[in-house]
Amino acid sequence: MPKARSNTTVPFRRVDIHAHTQFAAFEADRKAVIERALSSGTAIINASTKLSTSRAAVALTQEYHEGVYAFVGLHPIHTTASFHDEQELGPGSQPFSSTGEVFDPAAYRTMLAEPKVLGIGECGLDYFHLADDTKAKQCAAFSAQIALANETGKPLMLHIREAYDDALDILATESKVAGDVHFFAGTIEQAKRFLDLGFTISFTGVVTFAAQYVPLVEYVPLSMIQAETDCPYVAPVPHRGKRNEPSYVAEIVARIATIKKLSLETVETALLENARRVWRLPC
Ligand SMILES: [Zn+2]
Repeated sequence: MPKARSNTTVPFRRVDIHAHTQFAAFEADRKAVIERALSSGTAIINASTKLSTSRAAVALTQEYHEGVYAFVGLHPIHTTASFHDEQELGPGSQPFSSTGEVFDPAAYRTMLAEPKVLGIGECGLDYFHLADDTKAKQCAAFSAQIALANETGKPLMLHIREAYDDALDILATESKVAGDVHFFAGTIEQAKRFLDLGFTISFTGVVTFAAQYVPLVEYVPLSMIQAETDCPYVAPVPHRGKRNEPSYVAEIVARIATIKKLSLETVETALLENARRVWRLPC
């Protein structure tokens, strides 16, 4: 294990609960990006998409004394031949090179034993790109990850796209743990069903420029909201069009405060408390 750098002494004020600083998009300046977040009081949880990005996220947690954590899991689009994303896997990897990863509970169970691995994900269902066998493979991987969450007691970081009702049905019957619904883009009725199951709802930089999220942010109680960048994707205003990074989560927290007509301090404190409660953050 590499020796942990003793990083910031700045107390944490916010948590980017869904980042991807282990992705190839940060290859050139990863340390600087992470330091910028930590020194501004932002802790980071890197969500993973397959075995290789999970291992990279766990390795990153070991390089920092505190403030860098991980979720490990298999993203639904990586259960079948997946679309190539250079920001995730790096230049030179083959388009459609993945033949699909089958979820291996033993490999993920080992990583979940690490105290800085706080949950399982991103996992769930994604019907945006549908092939014939997509639904069956995604459902099998989702159920296997829910079973591992039940076994370990660690919460779920959910990625659901165009599949909210199916995901809710599976969670209601199978899951004994809660967690968070990442990048939520469903209806208020669907939000209510997740809240009733104990899941928080997290918002990305899209809330800084897309008006359709305002009623949802107004609806979700302050005690059940989290903020995330999903970096390197969807940078918030005023960084739109650039690569996103964890320190920009401050813009998302500020926007949530504006929509909810609350002080920034009130919202920052509440969201930090939510992150500590849901992920049992050690900082
Ligand atoms: Zn993500």
